[in-house]
Amino acid sequence: MRRLGVLRRCRVGWVALALCLGCGDDPRPNLLLISIDTLRADRIGAYGYERETTPTLDALAARGVRFETVIAESSWTLPSHVTLFTGLPPSFHGVVRPNQRLAETIPTLAEILRQHGYRTSGITGGVFLEERFGVARGFDQYRDDGVDFSTALRIVLRILERPPRAGPFFWFIHTYDVHCPYDPPARYARMFDSRPPRDRLDTRGRCGNPHYNRMPLRPGQVAFLSDRYDAGIRYADDLLGDFLAKLDASGRLDHTIVAVVSDHGDEFLEHGRIGHRNTLFIESLRIPWILAGPGIEPGVVTEPVGLADVMPTLLDLLGLPVPDLEGRSMRAVMRGEARRNGERPVFSENQWGEELYSAVFGDHHLIVRRQTQQVQLFDWRRDPRESRDLLGERPARDETLRRLLSERIGRLDAARNRNAPEIAPGPSDPEQARLRALGYVEVEP
Ligand SMILES: [Zn+2]
Repeated sequence: MRRLGVLRRCRVGWVALALCLGCGDDPRPNLLLISIDTLRADRIGAYGYERETTPTLDALAARGVRFETVIAESSWTLPSHVTLFTGLPPSFHGVVRPNQRLAETIPTLAEILRQHGYRTSGITGGVFLEERFGVARGFDQYRDDGVDFSTALRIVLRILERPPRAGPFFWFIHTYDVHCPYDPPARYARMFDSRPPRDRLDTRGRCGNPHYNRMPLRPGQVAFLSDRYDAGIRYADDLLGDFLAKLDASGRLDHTIVAVVSDHGDEFLEHGRIGHRNTLFIESLRIPWILAGPGIEPGVVTEPVGLADVMPTLLDLLGLPVPDLEGRSMRAVMRGEARRNGERPVFSENQWGEELYSAVFGDHHLIVRRQTQQVQLFDWRRDPRESRDLLGERPARDETLRRLLSERIGRLDAARNRNAPEIAPGPSDPEQARLRALGYVEVEP
């Protein structure tokens, strides 16, 4: 990948120039953005889960800010990550199907950070984060060949152990270790195993939607998969804990803002499916966002937010200009300086497979299936399994929420029509194999 020299970084503006003159002891914090793919918020201790899945994330949340209600704008990896990288909802950035690529004209977080003198690096589990989707733009170095989390963190540490070059670093680290096929190391599987032997499945090679390779599952087998999912979370959390401890020992953690997010949740037959991507129920959408580091006072933000808010918030925290985006900076809300607006809706959408739209309005969650015109409304807080459809109980409320979502769908349609989609190159053979390993067996154009 292209590497920028100090001189070029110094040309981007007087702020960067002033800072670059003091290269070597740049006072700006480093940024570590970690995406744990497929991590549901409700499986995290800091979000109320009773099992000990996340001591590291819980500790990070205790010393930082935890966003209580984070709704992914999509329930699959590619559109959600492009939203994370651009601050734009899926239909606005235009990458909504598995053959689309981010247009060169849309600025990315890594690109902006690089323009301001950050050394930008990414390492990912690949698949929907491969360079062919345009997601590597702005990174000085970007690895997308499917390394696991343990390997990725080891590589990052090795690079960070070298004598620091000028300017702060931005590292984006992504892992599929929690994702189906739910295959953590045996030691972790044993920690969370609650099922008798008859419920156990060999999970390898079985990943897929809409059911677990269309095999009917007994409740005990679903619970087994759910145990394995928890074990994968604990494994990823422990790896992250070791990594942060080493970063701390080297003195770098004090100067690093750490942001942990996911891109969507996962389903365990709450609505008839295993996995994600096929629905927009709350188990597919509610994810964590935890922020800790220099200048961040501990707290909890209850206002609903989306992944589009991450980029403007991070740029704002780093003291960089925030572009005009759909997402907005939560910095003032984090500091208690802005009034909370509990009714700010967060919209989600899926265009791969069935066309789906949803809006979280505080406690209410409205879901529209475009083809069938089916509409459902849930109180996701009081009914977290979204089993009781409230539509029809209060017609005036229903009408208001439906109108708001309908207006939003009109804006999303218009945005998609404006952006001619760029077509991504097809997967290479190894890329195709990794797609299949994660269960994406029907990647149609
Ligand atoms: Zn994902």
